[in-house]
Amino acid sequence: MSYIYIVPIELEDNSYLEKLERFIFSTFHLRTKRREFKINLKDAFDPSRVQYNSSLILRQLIKKPPLDAEKILGVLDVDLFIPILTFVFGEAQLKGIGAVVSTHRLHNRFYGLPENREVTTDRLLKEAVHELGHTFGLIHCLQAKCVMNSSTYVENIDQKSAEFCPLCQKSIKVEKSGRVNKVFEFFWRDRNH
Ligand SMILES: [Zn+2]
Ligand SMILES: [Zn+2]
Repeated sequence: MSYIYIVPIELEDNSYLEKLERFIFSTFHLRTKRREFKINLKDAFDPSRVQYNSSLILRQLIKKPPLDAEKILGVLDVDLFIPILTFVFGEAQLKGIGAVVSTHRLHNRFYGLPENREVTTDRLLKEAVHELGHTFGLIHCLQAKCVMNSSTYVENIDQKSAEFCPLCQKSIKVEKSGRVNKVFEFFWRDRNH
């Protein structure tokens, strides 16, 4: 039996995770398992940017995958970046095992607006499915409503749905029936995640 591991990483508010796990199960038809991994966030911190390098976090996350892990999703609330971009909502290994997603820029309060838990949750579900979609081999999709549509800004996340379009859905099925290469080293840097 293989699982999608949900790994909270120094997450202050765990209350989003239950809904997230349920949604991931209903989307990918794989059971989830919530576990803490030994991850040192300080190693990924860049003091000059006051942000965390998401690739360095992802590397720690996938270092020793549990044998029953089909995928591993790290969930954080710190501000993530990769060197060529000012920020990322998340990052994933294309056709690999690992992905990370952060709620940091999914909160309304980040944009100076009144906080709304439902909105944050909705965005988190979409970004998590999007990043996991990359691990299942999906690249960005041009269908505006498809969850694999690229989001540069948070408004783009709000405009798309949390579902795969029929074509992406079909590709996932093919990928799930094949073998997953757990050491594939290509990282898909999502600005939108
Ligand atoms: Zn699509
Ligand atoms: Zn993406």
